[in-house]
Amino acid sequence: MTRVDAAARVAADLERPEGASWFRAPGRVNLVGDHMDYSGGFVLPFAIDRSCVVAARPGGSVRVRSLDAGSVVEVPVAGAGDPTSVRPAWGRYVAAVVGELAALGRPPVGMDAVLASDVPLGSGLSSSAALEVSCAVALAGVAEWEIGVEALAEACRSAEERATGVPCGIMDQLASLAGRAGDALLIDCRSLEIEPVALPDGLAVLVVHSGLSRSLDASAYADRRRASEQLAAKLGLAALRDATEADVADEPLGRHVVTENRRVHAAVQALTAGDLVELGRLFSESHASLRDDFRVSTPELDALVESLVHAGAYGARLTGAGFGGCVVAACDEASVADVAEAATTSYRARTGLEPVAFRCHAADGAGVFQAPSYQRA
Ligand code: ADP
Ligand code: MG
Repeated sequence: MTRVDAAARVAADLERPEGASWFRAPGRVNLVGDHMDYSGGFVLPFAIDRSCVVAARPGGSVRVRSLDAGSVVEVPVAGAGDPTSVRPAWGRYVAAVVGELAALGRPPVGMDAVLASDVPLGSGLSSSAALEVSCAVALAGVAEWEIGVEALAEACRSAEERATGVPCGIMDQLASLAGRAGDALLIDCRSLEIEPVALPDGLAVLVVHSGLSRSLDASAYADRRRASEQLAAKLGLAALRDATEADVADEPLGRHVVTENRRVHAAVQALTAGDLVELGRLFSESHASLRDDFRVSTPELDALVESLVHAGAYGARLTGAGFGGCVVAACDEASVADVAEAATTSYRARTGLEPVAFRCHAADGAGVFQAPSYQRA
Protein backbone atom coordinates (compact mmCIF):
# COMPACT_ATOMS: atom_id res chain seq x y z
CA MET A 1 0.00 0.00 0.00
CA THR A 2 1.53 3.38 -0.93
CA ARG A 3 1.10 6.26 1.44
CA VAL A 4 2.53 9.68 2.09
CA ASP A 5 3.76 9.27 5.61
CA ALA A 6 2.32 11.36 8.38
CA ALA A 7 5.55 13.27 9.08
CA ALA A 8 5.76 14.34 5.43
CA ARG A 9 2.16 15.52 5.49
CA VAL A 10 2.74 17.54 8.65
CA ALA A 11 5.99 18.99 7.28
CA ALA A 12 4.30 20.02 4.04
CA ASP A 13 1.55 21.74 5.99
CA LEU A 14 3.63 23.75 8.46
CA GLU A 15 3.54 27.47 7.80
CA ARG A 16 6.48 28.20 10.09
CA PRO A 17 8.56 25.06 10.60
CA GLU A 18 11.30 26.84 12.52
CA GLY A 19 10.90 26.51 16.28
CA ALA A 20 8.53 23.55 16.09
CA SER A 21 9.30 20.46 18.16
CA TRP A 22 8.32 17.05 16.81
CA PHE A 23 6.76 14.15 18.68
CA ARG A 24 5.37 10.79 17.66
CA ALA A 25 3.39 7.97 19.24
CA PRO A 26 2.84 4.60 17.54
CA GLY A 27 -0.28 2.47 17.25
CA ARG A 28 -0.03 -1.13 18.40
CA VAL A 29 -0.96 -4.62 17.37
CA ASN A 30 -1.69 -7.24 19.98
CA LEU A 31 -0.21 -10.66 19.17
CA VAL A 32 -2.17 -12.61 21.78
CA GLY A 33 -4.26 -11.67 24.82
CA ASP A 34 -7.43 -9.86 23.79
CA HIS A 35 -10.06 -8.69 26.27
CA MET A 36 -7.49 -9.40 28.97
CA ASP A 37 -6.37 -6.03 30.28
CA TYR A 38 -9.52 -5.25 32.24
CA SER A 39 -9.42 -8.74 33.76
CA GLY A 40 -5.93 -8.00 35.08
CA GLY A 41 -4.33 -10.59 32.80
CA PHE A 42 -1.35 -10.68 30.46
CA VAL A 43 -1.16 -9.23 26.94
CA LEU A 44 1.52 -9.41 24.24
CA PRO A 45 1.37 -6.34 21.97
CA PHE A 46 4.03 -4.44 20.10
CA ALA A 47 4.21 -0.79 19.05
CA ILE A 48 3.98 -0.67 15.24
CA ASP A 49 5.88 1.31 12.63
CA ARG A 50 2.88 3.59 12.12
CA SER A 51 2.47 6.65 14.30
CA CYS A 52 0.59 9.81 15.03
CA VAL A 53 3.09 12.64 14.41
CA VAL A 54 2.77 16.07 16.06
CA ALA A 55 4.70 19.27 15.33
CA ALA A 56 4.16 21.71 18.20
CA ARG A 57 5.31 25.02 19.55
CA PRO A 58 4.33 26.75 22.81
CA GLY A 59 1.19 28.90 22.50
CA GLY A 60 -1.58 30.57 24.50
CA SER A 61 -4.30 27.94 24.60
CA VAL A 62 -4.00 24.33 23.38
CA ARG A 63 -4.80 24.46 19.69
CA VAL A 64 -4.42 21.27 17.63
CA ARG A 65 -5.16 20.75 13.96
CA SER A 66 -5.60 17.21 12.62
CA LEU A 67 -4.81 16.84 8.93
CA ASP A 68 -6.75 13.57 8.97
CA ALA A 69 -9.92 15.14 10.35
CA GLY A 70 -9.38 18.44 8.49
CA SER A 71 -10.38 20.42 11.57
CA VAL A 72 -9.02 22.28 14.59
CA VAL A 73 -9.76 21.89 18.27
CA GLU A 74 -8.97 24.54 20.84
CA VAL A 75 -9.16 24.07 24.61
CA PRO A 76 -7.91 26.08 27.61
CA VAL A 77 -4.57 24.92 29.11
CA ALA A 78 -6.36 23.83 32.28
CA GLY A 79 -8.66 21.52 30.28
CA ALA A 80 -12.22 22.00 29.10
CA GLY A 81 -14.22 20.72 32.07
CA ASP A 82 -16.34 17.94 30.61
CA PRO A 83 -14.44 16.78 27.50
CA THR A 84 -17.56 15.21 25.98
CA SER A 85 -18.88 18.70 25.22
CA VAL A 86 -15.89 19.47 22.94
CA ARG A 87 -16.44 19.72 19.18
CA PRO A 88 -15.34 18.39 16.73
CA ALA A 89 -15.72 14.98 18.37
CA TRP A 90 -12.08 13.89 17.96
CA GLY A 91 -11.13 16.94 20.06
CA ARG A 92 -12.57 15.14 23.09
CA TYR A 93 -9.46 12.96 23.24
CA VAL A 94 -7.23 16.04 23.16
CA ALA A 95 -9.31 17.93 25.73
CA ALA A 96 -9.34 14.93 28.05
CA VAL A 97 -5.56 14.51 27.80
CA VAL A 98 -5.08 18.22 28.56
CA GLY A 99 -7.37 17.89 31.59
CA GLU A 100 -5.65 14.76 32.93
CA LEU A 101 -2.16 16.27 32.61
CA ALA A 102 -3.27 19.55 34.23
CA ALA A 103 -4.59 17.53 37.17
CA LEU A 104 -1.16 15.86 37.47
CA GLY A 105 0.54 19.25 37.67
CA ARG A 106 1.64 19.98 34.11
CA PRO A 107 2.67 23.66 33.99
CA PRO A 108 0.00 25.72 32.18
CA VAL A 109 1.91 26.15 28.90
CA GLY A 110 -0.29 26.27 25.79
CA MET A 111 0.58 24.63 22.48
CA ASP A 112 -0.06 25.29 18.84
CA ALA A 113 0.18 21.96 16.99
CA VAL A 114 -0.46 20.15 13.73
CA LEU A 115 -0.82 16.36 13.64
CA ALA A 116 -1.34 13.52 11.19
CA SER A 117 -1.46 9.78 11.73
CA ASP A 118 -0.36 6.72 9.75
CA VAL A 119 -2.41 4.48 12.03
CA PRO A 120 -5.67 3.66 10.24
CA LEU A 121 -8.50 5.22 12.26
CA GLY A 122 -11.03 2.95 13.92
CA SER A 123 -9.43 -0.34 12.82
CA GLY A 124 -8.23 -1.92 16.05
CA LEU A 125 -4.61 -0.70 15.78
CA SER A 126 -5.28 1.96 18.39
CA SER A 127 -5.20 5.23 16.52
CA SER A 128 -6.95 6.64 19.61
CA ALA A 129 -4.02 5.77 21.90
CA ALA A 130 -1.58 7.11 19.27
CA LEU A 131 -3.54 10.38 19.26
CA GLU A 132 -3.71 10.64 23.07
CA VAL A 133 -0.10 9.68 23.67
CA SER A 134 1.32 11.89 20.90
CA CYS A 135 -0.58 14.87 22.28
CA ALA A 136 0.48 13.98 25.84
CA VAL A 137 4.20 13.77 24.99
CA ALA A 138 3.90 17.01 23.01
CA LEU A 139 2.14 18.76 25.91
CA ALA A 140 4.83 17.52 28.29
CA GLY A 141 7.55 18.54 25.80
CA VAL A 142 6.39 22.13 25.21
CA ALA A 143 6.08 22.64 28.98
CA GLU A 144 9.49 20.97 29.61
CA TRP A 145 7.69 18.78 32.13
CA GLU A 146 8.91 15.30 33.10
CA ILE A 147 6.50 12.48 33.83
CA GLY A 148 7.06 8.72 34.07
CA VAL A 149 5.82 6.21 31.51
CA GLU A 150 3.31 4.49 33.82
CA ALA A 151 1.77 7.75 35.01
CA LEU A 152 1.52 9.04 31.45
CA ALA A 153 -0.05 5.78 30.23
CA GLU A 154 -2.58 5.88 33.05
CA ALA A 155 -3.39 9.55 32.33
CA CYS A 156 -4.01 8.73 28.64
CA ARG A 157 -6.09 5.65 29.53
CA SER A 158 -8.20 7.73 31.86
CA ALA A 159 -8.49 10.44 29.17
CA GLU A 160 -9.82 7.87 26.68
CA GLU A 161 -12.40 6.76 29.22
CA ARG A 162 -13.49 10.34 29.87
CA ALA A 163 -13.52 11.24 26.17
CA THR A 164 -15.60 8.26 25.05
CA GLY A 165 -17.55 7.32 28.17
CA VAL A 166 -16.44 3.72 27.54
CA PRO A 167 -14.25 2.00 30.13
CA CYS A 168 -10.89 1.05 28.67
CA GLY A 169 -7.85 -1.00 29.69
CA ILE A 170 -4.26 0.26 29.74
CA MET A 171 -2.68 -1.98 27.09
CA ASP A 172 -2.89 0.46 24.17
CA GLN A 173 -1.39 3.47 25.90
CA LEU A 174 1.33 1.45 27.62
CA ALA A 175 2.33 -0.30 24.37
CA SER A 176 2.47 3.05 22.55
CA LEU A 177 4.74 4.49 25.23
CA ALA A 178 6.95 1.52 26.07
CA GLY A 179 7.46 -0.04 22.59
CA ARG A 180 10.93 -1.31 21.64
CA ALA A 181 12.12 -1.86 18.07
CA GLY A 182 12.23 -5.58 17.32
CA ASP A 183 10.44 -6.63 20.52
CA ALA A 184 6.97 -7.58 21.62
CA LEU A 185 6.02 -6.56 25.18
CA LEU A 186 4.73 -9.04 27.72
CA ILE A 187 2.61 -6.79 29.93
CA ASP A 188 1.12 -7.82 33.25
CA CYS A 189 -1.97 -5.60 33.25
CA ARG A 190 -2.24 -5.88 37.04
CA SER A 191 1.28 -4.89 38.11
CA LEU A 192 2.04 -3.04 34.82
CA GLU A 193 5.36 -4.89 34.74
CA ILE A 194 6.71 -5.09 31.18
CA GLU A 195 9.08 -7.72 29.83
CA PRO A 196 10.44 -7.30 26.29
CA VAL A 197 10.32 -10.46 24.17
CA ALA A 198 12.45 -10.45 21.00
CA LEU A 199 10.60 -11.30 17.80
CA PRO A 200 12.47 -14.16 16.12
CA ASP A 201 14.11 -13.96 12.70
CA GLY A 202 11.85 -15.24 9.97
CA LEU A 203 8.60 -14.11 11.60
CA ALA A 204 6.52 -11.65 9.59
CA VAL A 205 3.52 -10.14 11.34
CA LEU A 206 0.83 -9.41 8.79
CA VAL A 207 -2.17 -7.25 9.66
CA VAL A 208 -5.19 -7.37 7.39
CA HIS A 209 -8.09 -4.96 7.72
CA SER A 210 -11.28 -6.88 7.03
CA GLY A 211 -12.94 -3.99 5.21
CA LEU A 212 -15.67 -4.31 7.81
CA SER A 213 -15.89 -1.20 9.95
CA ARG A 214 -16.34 -1.99 13.60
CA SER A 215 -19.86 -1.81 14.85
CA LEU A 216 -21.30 -2.82 18.18
CA ASP A 217 -17.83 -2.89 19.58
CA ALA A 218 -18.28 -0.14 22.17
CA SER A 219 -21.50 -1.60 23.55
CA ALA A 220 -20.25 -5.20 23.29
CA TYR A 221 -16.99 -4.20 24.95
CA ALA A 222 -18.84 -2.59 27.86
CA ASP A 223 -21.15 -5.61 28.03
CA ARG A 224 -18.30 -8.17 28.09
CA ARG A 225 -16.41 -6.11 30.60
CA ARG A 226 -19.41 -5.89 32.94
CA ALA A 227 -20.10 -9.62 32.57
CA SER A 228 -16.43 -10.43 33.29
CA GLU A 229 -16.51 -8.31 36.45
CA GLN A 230 -19.77 -9.90 37.58
CA LEU A 231 -18.37 -13.38 37.02
CA ALA A 232 -15.22 -12.54 38.99
CA ALA A 233 -17.38 -11.22 41.86
CA LYS A 234 -19.53 -14.37 41.76
CA LEU A 235 -16.37 -16.48 42.04
CA GLY A 236 -15.15 -14.30 44.91
CA LEU A 237 -12.10 -13.14 42.92
CA ALA A 238 -10.60 -9.67 42.42
CA ALA A 239 -10.48 -10.29 38.65
CA LEU A 240 -10.93 -13.21 36.24
CA ARG A 241 -7.17 -13.43 35.91
CA ASP A 242 -7.21 -15.20 39.29
CA ALA A 243 -9.62 -17.96 38.19
CA THR A 244 -8.48 -21.53 37.63
CA GLU A 245 -9.58 -23.65 34.65
CA ALA A 246 -11.80 -25.62 37.05
CA ASP A 247 -13.51 -22.40 38.30
CA VAL A 248 -14.62 -21.48 34.80
CA ALA A 249 -15.12 -24.88 33.15
CA ASP A 250 -18.80 -24.04 32.53
CA GLU A 251 -18.39 -20.29 32.06
CA PRO A 252 -17.42 -19.42 28.46
CA LEU A 253 -16.36 -15.82 29.21
CA GLY A 254 -14.13 -16.89 32.07
CA ARG A 255 -12.83 -19.82 30.04
CA HIS A 256 -11.60 -17.39 27.39
CA VAL A 257 -9.75 -15.30 29.98
CA VAL A 258 -8.09 -18.28 31.68
CA THR A 259 -7.10 -20.05 28.46
CA GLU A 260 -5.99 -16.79 26.79
CA ASN A 261 -3.73 -16.00 29.75
CA ARG A 262 -2.13 -19.42 29.29
CA ARG A 263 -1.76 -18.79 25.54
CA VAL A 264 0.04 -15.47 26.15
CA HIS A 265 2.71 -17.26 28.21
CA ALA A 266 2.89 -20.11 25.69
CA ALA A 267 3.33 -17.54 22.89
CA VAL A 268 6.27 -15.98 24.77
CA GLN A 269 7.88 -19.43 24.91
CA ALA A 270 7.20 -20.02 21.22
CA LEU A 271 8.74 -16.63 20.30
CA THR A 272 11.77 -17.32 22.47
CA ALA A 273 12.24 -20.76 20.91
CA GLY A 274 11.60 -19.39 17.40
CA ASP A 275 8.81 -21.97 17.03
CA LEU A 276 6.59 -20.25 14.47
CA VAL A 277 4.39 -23.31 13.94
CA GLU A 278 3.48 -23.32 17.64
CA LEU A 279 2.98 -19.53 17.61
CA GLY A 280 0.56 -19.89 14.69
CA ARG A 281 -1.31 -22.67 16.46
CA LEU A 282 -1.77 -20.39 19.48
CA PHE A 283 -3.04 -17.57 17.23
CA SER A 284 -5.67 -19.85 15.72
CA GLU A 285 -6.65 -21.26 19.13
CA SER A 286 -7.03 -17.69 20.42
CA HIS A 287 -9.30 -16.82 17.51
CA ALA A 288 -11.49 -19.85 18.20
CA SER A 289 -11.75 -18.80 21.85
CA LEU A 290 -12.69 -15.21 20.94
CA ARG A 291 -15.24 -16.58 18.45
CA ASP A 292 -16.82 -19.37 20.50
CA ASP A 293 -16.30 -18.45 24.15
CA PHE A 294 -16.00 -14.64 24.22
CA ARG A 295 -18.26 -14.19 21.13
CA VAL A 296 -16.69 -11.05 19.65
CA SER A 297 -16.03 -12.32 16.12
CA THR A 298 -18.16 -12.04 12.96
CA PRO A 299 -18.55 -14.39 9.95
CA GLU A 300 -16.34 -12.01 7.93
CA LEU A 301 -13.49 -12.06 10.47
CA ASP A 302 -13.79 -15.86 10.63
CA ALA A 303 -13.58 -16.00 6.82
CA LEU A 304 -10.49 -13.78 6.80
CA VAL A 305 -8.74 -15.94 9.41
CA GLU A 306 -9.58 -19.07 7.39
CA SER A 307 -8.35 -17.47 4.15
CA LEU A 308 -5.04 -16.53 5.77
CA VAL A 309 -4.43 -19.99 7.21
CA HIS A 310 -5.47 -21.61 3.93
CA ALA A 311 -3.02 -19.30 2.08
CA GLY A 312 -0.14 -20.50 4.28
CA ALA A 313 -0.07 -18.32 7.40
CA TYR A 314 1.08 -20.21 10.50
CA GLY A 315 -2.03 -18.91 12.25
CA ALA A 316 -4.33 -15.89 12.43
CA ARG A 317 -6.74 -14.22 14.82
CA LEU A 318 -8.89 -11.16 15.22
CA THR A 319 -7.07 -8.44 17.14
CA GLY A 320 -8.54 -5.62 19.20
CA ALA A 321 -12.09 -5.48 20.47
CA GLY A 322 -13.61 -7.52 17.61
CA PHE A 323 -16.80 -7.01 15.56
CA GLY A 324 -14.81 -5.85 12.51
CA GLY A 325 -11.48 -4.12 12.10
CA CYS A 326 -8.24 -6.07 11.79
CA VAL A 327 -6.94 -9.63 11.86
CA VAL A 328 -3.29 -10.43 12.69
CA ALA A 329 -1.43 -13.35 11.13
CA ALA A 330 1.91 -15.01 11.92
CA CYS A 331 3.64 -15.64 8.59
CA ASP A 332 6.98 -16.73 7.24
CA GLU A 333 9.06 -13.79 6.07
CA ALA A 334 9.83 -15.59 2.79
CA SER A 335 6.18 -16.10 1.83
CA VAL A 336 4.33 -13.24 3.53
CA ALA A 337 3.71 -11.31 0.29
CA ASP A 338 2.24 -14.40 -1.40
CA VAL A 339 0.11 -15.21 1.64
CA ALA A 340 -1.26 -11.65 1.71
CA GLU A 341 -2.07 -11.76 -2.01
CA ALA A 342 -3.76 -15.18 -1.96
CA ALA A 343 -5.70 -14.54 1.27
CA THR A 344 -7.04 -11.15 0.23
CA THR A 345 -8.07 -12.49 -3.20
CA SER A 346 -9.96 -15.39 -1.66
CA TYR A 347 -11.53 -13.24 1.09
CA ARG A 348 -12.67 -10.63 -1.46
CA ALA A 349 -14.34 -13.36 -3.53
CA ARG A 350 -16.01 -14.87 -0.45
CA THR A 351 -17.34 -11.69 1.13
CA GLY A 352 -17.36 -8.89 -1.47
CA LEU A 353 -15.46 -6.77 1.08
CA GLU A 354 -12.24 -4.89 0.30
CA PRO A 355 -9.42 -6.01 2.64
CA VAL A 356 -6.17 -4.07 3.12
CA ALA A 357 -3.04 -5.99 4.12
CA PHE A 358 0.16 -4.54 5.54
CA ARG A 359 3.14 -5.94 7.35
CA CYS A 360 3.93 -4.46 10.77
CA HIS A 361 7.36 -4.17 12.37
CA ALA A 362 7.93 -3.64 16.09
CA ALA A 363 8.94 -0.01 16.67
CA ASP A 364 10.17 2.15 19.53
CA GLY A 365 7.60 3.79 21.78
CA ALA A 366 6.48 7.42 21.82
CA GLY A 367 8.82 10.33 22.20
CA VAL A 368 10.61 13.21 20.60
CA PHE A 369 11.12 12.87 16.89
CA GLN A 370 13.74 14.46 14.64
CA ALA A 371 12.25 17.05 12.29
CA PRO A 372 12.10 15.31 8.92
CA SER A 373 14.74 16.53 6.46
CA TYR A 374 12.10 17.05 3.78
CA GLN A 375 10.47 19.70 5.98
CA ARG A 376 9.48 22.78 3.96
CA ALA A 377 12.21 25.43 4.16
P1 ADP B 1 -8.84 2.66 17.05
O1 ADP B 1 -8.22 3.16 18.30
O2 ADP B 1 -8.87 1.16 16.98
O3 ADP B 1 -8.25 3.23 15.82
P2 ADP B 1 -11.09 4.08 18.14
O4 ADP B 1 -12.52 4.10 17.77
O5 ADP B 1 -10.70 3.75 19.51
O6 ADP B 1 -10.37 3.11 17.09
O7 ADP B 1 -10.44 5.50 17.82
C1 ADP B 1 -10.67 6.14 16.58
C2 ADP B 1 -11.02 7.60 16.86
O8 ADP B 1 -9.86 8.29 17.35
C3 ADP B 1 -11.40 8.35 15.60
O9 ADP B 1 -12.77 8.21 15.32
C4 ADP B 1 -11.05 9.78 15.97
O10 ADP B 1 -12.06 10.37 16.78
C5 ADP B 1 -9.83 9.61 16.86
N1 ADP B 1 -8.57 9.79 16.09
C6 ADP B 1 -7.54 8.94 16.01
N2 ADP B 1 -6.54 9.44 15.25
C7 ADP B 1 -6.95 10.66 14.86
C8 ADP B 1 -6.36 11.68 14.05
N3 ADP B 1 -5.17 11.52 13.49
N4 ADP B 1 -7.08 12.82 13.87
C9 ADP B 1 -8.30 12.99 14.43
N5 ADP B 1 -8.89 12.05 15.17
C10 ADP B 1 -8.23 10.90 15.40
MG1 MG C 1 -8.94 2.90 20.26
